[in-house]
Amino acid sequence: MDIFGLDIWSQNNFKEHHGLLKVNYKSSPSLLDIVEQVRQDGTRGPILLRFPHLIKKQIHNLYSHFDNAIKENNYTGSFNAVFPLKVNQFPYLVEATLAQGKKYNYGLEAGSKAELVLAMGKSDLKTPITVNGFKDKEMISLGFMAAHSGHNITLTIEGINELKTILEITQETRLTTPKIGIRVRLHSGGSGFWAKSGGMDAKFGLTSTEIIEAIKLLKEHHLLDHLEMIHFHIGSQMSDIAPLKKALREAGNIYGELKKMGADKLNSINIGGGLAVEYNQNKNSKTHNYTIEEFASSVVFLLGEIMDTKGVQHPNIFTESGRYIVASHAVLIAPVLELFSQDYQEKLLRFKKENPPLIEELRELNKLLTSRNAIEYMHDALDHSESLLTLFDLGYIDLQDRSNAEILVHNIIKKALYLSDSLNMNELQDLQSRVQERYLINASIFQSLPDFWGIKQKFPIVPLNHLDEIPLRAASLWDITCDSDGEIAFDTSNPLYLHDIDLEKEDYYLGFFNVGAYQETLGMNHNLFTHPNEYTIDIDKDTYTIKNSAKSKSIVEILSSIGYDTSLLQKKLNLKLQKSDFITEKEKNDTLAKLKTLLKQNGYLRTTN
Ligand SMILES: *Cc1c(COP(=O)(O)O)cnc(C)c1O
Repeated sequence: MDIFGLDIWSQNNFKEHHGLLKVNYKSSPSLLDIVEQVRQDGTRGPILLRFPHLIKKQIHNLYSHFDNAIKENNYTGSFNAVFPLKVNQFPYLVEATLAQGKKYNYGLEAGSKAELVLAMGKSDLKTPITVNGFKDKEMISLGFMAAHSGHNITLTIEGINELKTILEITQETRLTTPKIGIRVRLHSGGSGFWAKSGGMDAKFGLTSTEIIEAIKLLKEHHLLDHLEMIHFHIGSQMSDIAPLKKALREAGNIYGELKKMGADKLNSINIGGGLAVEYNQNKNSKTHNYTIEEFASSVVFLLGEIMDTKGVQHPNIFTESGRYIVASHAVLIAPVLELFSQDYQEKLLRFKKENPPLIEELRELNKLLTSRNAIEYMHDALDHSESLLTLFDLGYIDLQDRSNAEILVHNIIKKALYLSDSLNMNELQDLQSRVQERYLINASIFQSLPDFWGIKQKFPIVPLNHLDEIPLRAASLWDITCDSDGEIAFDTSNPLYLHDIDLEKEDYYLGFFNVGAYQETLGMNHNLFTHPNEYTIDIDKDTYTIKNSAKSKSIVEILSSIGYDTSLLQKKLNLKLQKSDFITEKEKNDTLAKLKTLLKQNGYLRTTN
């Protein structure tokens, strides 16, 4: 049985066992167990789980495959990597990544002043720091301060003006000059969603004319010995490896040319990030077509070959893949609050003594439907449904009749879908979208899956239990924001089916996977929902431990963060209640206490789930 595409996207990180979704590591806890433990203290709403062993796994994968490729190809340069902070700057994540990467000397990449401050504060002196993105004089000075403090830092210039600023600072101060990198503007671009980081119209990088000018300037100022790296980045989530190969040829040749021009200390090529993560849970649409092994061996082989042809020593290789390192480590868990098509339950039928003839016919169809007549009866029902809606518009039947008709037709379609195995694909999909189940989830898509909102990036979605039952309900998901964009609609080309659950009897949770890259700081506080409570799960061979690594912001905190004087707000709320009529003093105090508690919680729903 294909279980929510686990085979496709999960890289063996998760598995199904007796209907439960489990972490496939050491004692293999079930996600449902973890969630139930977390909720014992009254925590409600969405939660974010972090699994440090998955960060460790990805860092190890990256280094070991490159190390193998280096050995196999007799490559003489070294392999180095930095984690691009823009992918996820949350404290726990950065600390865990540095800790797991320590033995490899895994470094950090910064793209803004705040990120650079973070990188300087968090890394050892010898760990590499690379700095990309647009920089003003202040940011470049910060780089000089880092170098002066002994950091192993490379400032990658994105344009000639940045180089001129570097030259200015060397003249104005006696601070240590950092290593300099040049981002090259390649002719070749990437492929996939985020391909616009490469190519001649890219936002970043120096053209060949500018590179020649840069070398001239560096020579004139006796700084050519600081030029140690060239850099490119052809875009995130590369779907195909061919464009990278083209970019490598181009960059490799630029590297060789620069060596010829006297850049003797030039020693590294930084190939940027872009290693893809599989987000698809549907067999016919994998998002990328290469493995990490193939990626590493292509890069190493190709660079070796280019350099051997040019008679140039093999450069050290740097990568800045971020998505690949951290996407898999985080899972968002959202409780389901409500199933909407339960409005169509048969118990809600209210027949009259005299019903319109078409309604009576629907009743019969509903009663007599079997696997043998399912399709025929369903087609009749669909026909009747059209006629009944017309009769309603013309005023011949009333709202109660219409409600009865809707419930009956809905149920007939549901039964037919369940009983019949001879529907053609088109009709099946059409019907499925007619009887979609809307699952209301206690989470905000804007906060926790902003790439779905912004660019329709899909994430694998899997319920935490019932995995040994075939899910039959074509599902669309609604979040609790009051914005109609907060919906993951049923998509016939990438369908999601979930289970029919009676939420009065049991809880049902959905896991959203591979959310560890980009989503967290991109997430926005639309409707003033905040980052969910987050927990770190350390798993060992007999058991596991849960640490609450960060609490979500309370209602007071979120209001305060956008500029409200919250003590004044609270005073006003209190005063109004104080002044209003209460029968007893106790009632008043209870109400005030309730308000106080509410303000200290986050804004997610608490009533049921
Ligand atoms: C965003 C970015 C990265 C990281 O890209 P991933 O797709 O997350 O690997 C690396 N380098 C630069 C310059 C970037 O802008």
